[in-house]
Amino acid sequence: MSGTVVTRFAPSPTGFLHIGGARTALFNWLYARGRGGKFLLRIEDTDRERSTPEATDAILQGMAWLGLDHDGDIVSQFENADRHAEVALQLLAEGKAYKCFATQEEIAAFREQARAEGKSTLYRSPWRDADASTHPDAPYVVRIKAPQDGQTIIKDEVQGDVTIKNDQLDDMILLRSDGTPVYMLAVVVDDHDMGVTHVIRGDDHLNNAARQMLVYNAMGWDVPVWAHIPLIFGPDGKKLSKRHGATGAQEYQAMGYPAAGMRNYLARLGWSHGDDEFFTDAQAKEWFDLPGIGKAPARFDFKKLEN
Ligand code: GLU
Repeated sequence: MSGTVVTRFAPSPTGFLHIGGARTALFNWLYARGRGGKFLLRIEDTDRERSTPEATDAILQGMAWLGLDHDGDIVSQFENADRHAEVALQLLAEGKAYKCFATQEEIAAFREQARAEGKSTLYRSPWRDADASTHPDAPYVVRIKAPQDGQTIIKDEVQGDVTIKNDQLDDMILLRSDGTPVYMLAVVVDDHDMGVTHVIRGDDHLNNAARQMLVYNAMGWDVPVWAHIPLIFGPDGKKLSKRHGATGAQEYQAMGYPAAGMRNYLARLGWSHGDDEFFTDAQAKEWFDLPGIGKAPARFDFKKLEN
């Protein structure tokens, strides 16, 4: 790909900077810094109930400790809500999205019946092809017209080509009945508007990528390079959690770990460069690449960190 590399870290401010988040931030930072690119920071604060200013502070503090400086202003996703809605309305005007008047009860009844008959519960709205003259004066959501046949391929630098049959994708909601945009739309619009070229994030977002591609394709926007990194497991092979020990970057700071050592450790969590175990920041920036990210879950080994 030609042009400037632009990566981003897009944490949801619902808690401290987790080891997994710190690694995601580091990978994005290394990738951009090693290529004269930009590393942007977006706070995904659209969930008003769960987002807190304290969590944002904790994330910023953790990144500052790790030396992960970002370029430009911090973007608040919530503040971009009007822009997200504008894109949904553009798709609506272009006939790539539609107003769906189906009620929750109707959809629930459809699903119940489909389950009882052993059929797919994927909801296909009868409003998709309805003429505007038949629209009632009632609340509606805006849904994207997902392709119903063929397949969507996520070309992922870590996972390889991931193929999803389009008949498994529903007409995702873009705008809720109160006119607010959904998260899945917000991510795509923000990444596009911020000029993000590479999305490096946990593979728990791989399914989202297929749905996010619906929006990229409908808008005719370039799809970024995807790199979905396997999650971090504890030494016992189970998903890393509190019971394994400290899982927050700040806890390691409080314990007196040097930031440089932590960076080195996090860089090697799921990424490797031959047999090199220790490297300088300059080497990490030069060496870090997407093919070096392993497909298997990384193991966070607390004992190794202590050495
Ligand atoms: N906000 C999401 C999270 O914290 C990340 C979304 C993304 O990277 O696209 O898990």
